[in-house]
Amino acid sequence: MDLSPVDSKQTIKVLPQLVPDSACFRCDVCCRFPEADSFLRPYFTHLEISDAVAHGVPESFFPNRSGSQVDLVENPIGEGYLCPAFDPKSGLCGIYEDRPLDCRLYPLALMWDAAGREVQLGWDSKCPFVRDAPSSAIREYGDRVATFLADEAIVEAIAAHPRLVGRFQQDVVVLKALPHLTVLLGPKPVDPQLRPLALQDAARFAKALECAQVIGPDTPAAFAFPYHYVWTSLLPYWWMESDHTLFLIAESPDGWFMPLPPLGAGPLDQAVERAFGLMQSWNGPSPVSRIENVMESQRQLLECDRIQFRRKAGDYLYPVGALVALAGDHYKSQRALCNRVAREGVITSEPYRADHQAGCALLYRRWAEQKRRGTLDQMGKLLLEDAEMAHALVFQEHERIGLSGTIVRVNGDIAAYTFGYWLTPQTWCVLLEVADRSISGLAQWVFRDTCRTAMAQGAVSINAMDDADLPGLRAAKSAYHPTALLDTWTITRTTT
Ligand code: SF4
Repeated sequence: MDLSPVDSKQTIKVLPQLVPDSACFRCDVCCRFPEADSFLRPYFTHLEISDAVAHGVPESFFPNRSGSQVDLVENPIGEGYLCPAFDPKSGLCGIYEDRPLDCRLYPLALMWDAAGREVQLGWDSKCPFVRDAPSSAIREYGDRVATFLADEAIVEAIAAHPRLVGRFQQDVVVLKALPHLTVLLGPKPVDPQLRPLALQDAARFAKALECAQVIGPDTPAAFAFPYHYVWTSLLPYWWMESDHTLFLIAESPDGWFMPLPPLGAGPLDQAVERAFGLMQSWNGPSPVSRIENVMESQRQLLECDRIQFRRKAGDYLYPVGALVALAGDHYKSQRALCNRVAREGVITSEPYRADHQAGCALLYRRWAEQKRRGTLDQMGKLLLEDAEMAHALVFQEHERIGLSGTIVRVNGDIAAYTFGYWLTPQTWCVLLEVADRSISGLAQWVFRDTCRTAMAQGAVSINAMDDADLPGLRAAKSAYHPTALLDTWTITRTTT
């Protein structure tokens, strides 16, 4: 439900402001954005769009008149992009008295936490005024804004426009959780048996893997809790148990699917039948109902007329000793690159700690930008956007997720990081690896360092995950001569 114009305007205009107008008008941070599609563009409700249009902002800047982020214009006197309501000559907002709630809240921001589970109120560390303000004043202001956000009229406006709560941002310092908005906007289970996948479910998940007897030398990376948990920042994940079998379920915008086959001791075909029955009851006949990451050995158990199999890109499996030695012609170029980076700078590695978070987040952005400037296709660009949330979650929660991380410094600066997990007692799985692409040979050095550390801890094999069907990644992973590609299958079932 949306508010009547009078209610919403009156309520929003009493929002207390922390930053004095004079400071705002001198600052050059707000209303300007580095990219045309910046996710920080302000969101306008449909009433706010009507107001903006009445004040001269062209309607065409709002892709959806019932509520949307505003489209930006190129900055005519500098780099980047501007809100179309902003006047670059005066440095003022042309609709200041009627600016949207999103702008009135700034420098505070509403966002989901890194796991996408909780609505939080925080302050943006990019705002110079707040950065210099005493922390007690910011906290006190946060309390006042939180009270304002509990106002019935504001809660209704946010319920009608859930995109007023933005995605997690590393730069925003959390002030407090807003449980009333989490309950209002959080994912709702379609079935009372479903439970949201949480960190405390890791042990239950490990037990289910053990029961299903799927852990062995050829186990794909997906048969592990961290592999799925890191994506909970992007998609709601759920699980349920039935007949001593664990079903892992993800909720995509199109519907429900299972990112893993059912995990239990009983017959797999019966559990798969039950899985499709559940998905069909939630999705109807939609083809989105599917089970991903079916292992090759499981495929043989499931073959029948009603089940269709589609091959997924396989995980690359390597013998760890070969990747540490990098001996012979096979590895000539990787060896040369490792030697070069070590020759040209002082390169060291150390275990990841919480105080590396900001440096790693900065590195991720630099690396993502380097990749975007390269030959990445549209799919690759989308994967990069998705991955930022997963990396942010790992920086915060790596230990509780069951991940170990390492950072690599070149001449003292963080230039690479990597996180991974033990997939089996002999197989180390590299989940994330980011290395500054402007330093030739760094990625190769980091990979060898990871292999050395894993070998010293007992690893026999390295699983470097799949190549996401990206040609560049395929070439890089193939160049290390895998001993196996662990193919998996996505299965769908014909409905009767
Ligand atoms: S509406 Fe006004 S305050 Fe908000 S971003 Fe645009 S110019 Fe800035």
